[in-house]
Amino acid sequence: MGKIQAIRGMHDILPEESWLWRHVEEAMQDVFDAFGYQEIRTPVLEQSQLFMRAIGEVTDIVEKEMYTFEDRNGDSLTLRPEGTAGVVRACIENGLLHNQTQRLWYRGAMFRHERPQKGRYRQFHQFGVEAFGFEGPDVDLEILLMSAAIWKALGLSDVELQLNTLGTPEERARYRDRLVDYLLQHHDALDEDSKRRLHTNPLRVLDSKNPDIQAIVAEAPALMEYLGDESLAHFERLRAGLDNAGIPYVVNERLVRGLDYYVRTVFEWVTDRLGAQGTICAGGRYDGLVEQLGGKPVCGIGFGMGIERVIALLQEQGSLETPEIADLYLVTTGNAAIDAQCIATRLREALPGLRLLVHCGGGGFKSQFKKADRSGARFALILGEDERDKGVIALKPLREGGEQQELPIEQLPHYMKGVLE
Ligand code: ATP
Ligand code: MG
Repeated sequence: MGKIQAIRGMHDILPEESWLWRHVEEAMQDVFDAFGYQEIRTPVLEQSQLFMRAIGEVTDIVEKEMYTFEDRNGDSLTLRPEGTAGVVRACIENGLLHNQTQRLWYRGAMFRHERPQKGRYRQFHQFGVEAFGFEGPDVDLEILLMSAAIWKALGLSDVELQLNTLGTPEERARYRDRLVDYLLQHHDALDEDSKRRLHTNPLRVLDSKNPDIQAIVAEAPALMEYLGDESLAHFERLRAGLDNAGIPYVVNERLVRGLDYYVRTVFEWVTDRLGAQGTICAGGRYDGLVEQLGGKPVCGIGFGMGIERVIALLQEQGSLETPEIADLYLVTTGNAAIDAQCIATRLREALPGLRLLVHCGGGGFKSQFKKADRSGARFALILGEDERDKGVIALKPLREGGEQQELPIEQLPHYMKGVLE
């Protein structure tokens, strides 16, 4: 029989890496707490309609990346490709937006059927935030400050903030007509992708990766010139806030983002240390989305962060060391192994936070001490049958000098508290 393997583009996170995931997750949660954002959890499966309506029919995600299938009732379901649509659905359905604002964060696996490569997977993980009911640029600034706080907490450098504004849907529509006129003048020079987008989602031509198209786009009319006073003022106030906060950024007028729902502020945090997949966080304002999904008109803004890419960048910087597994390793032989488990339980209860690994599976002292050493423990505790019968346990320093000593078992919690502090 053939070996069963994980699905292409979907990965196991093994112990050698899972500690790093926890490190990143804890740092992010601390930042969300510090800003007063609350967690929301939504299902990984949603009705396919939700994503078609939220993300837009002519986006890469809906056109070719979704995991969509019929369930046993014949309903069309989709594994979520992103987090915002589900959060908006949950807020409407549970009345979270009735005369109140919300600041929420989520995390979880997302699914997109893309070509797997470094930094691009079919199951990947995002942390994201959404803030609902705030119109002004103050909340735009807040979520940018929050992302900057996450980079700081993780010690990440080499990330650059790119910022743009897409104006209102009306302003964008006027610009789109003008852009289509311009692109039609260069129709013969466009590649297939751009020709297709010209009719479906012409703004996407602006962020084409093809150098020939980029040359054409460089001469295209600028969206900024089609913006009204209010959109410009919103953008200016956000920029002033970033300047004030000392957060550097560049305005990238070609930044349009892949999803249909964005208006006004859009942004990406990018790094040049991860090759082609250099965007580690992306987001923007989506003022029409709640209404589009059947709610009252409530504005919103948010971002999604790709955890695999954040972790790749941390690894690339190489600043973190694999933590030790244990503080203490309990070596034990024969029948004492059962007593050892009970003593260990009392010790863990007495010393919250203690990481105590108890040897299981028998074996001689020599091989047990090898394991103790590999666990990174500072001390070994030794409980053989002799010790057990005498009511004592031996303590042996593994990393620092000092003699092995025997302690009465009842005194162990008290004694270890002093030693480990
Ligand atoms: P890209 O241009 O790289 O395809 P995107 O615009 O499709 O990104 P978003 O939908 O904005 O990405 O998702 C937010 C973030 O999630 C991205 O900036 C990235 O860090 C991460 N991300 C998106 N798709 C993937 C993927 N297939 N594998 C790993 N991370 C991803
Ligand atoms: Mg994509």
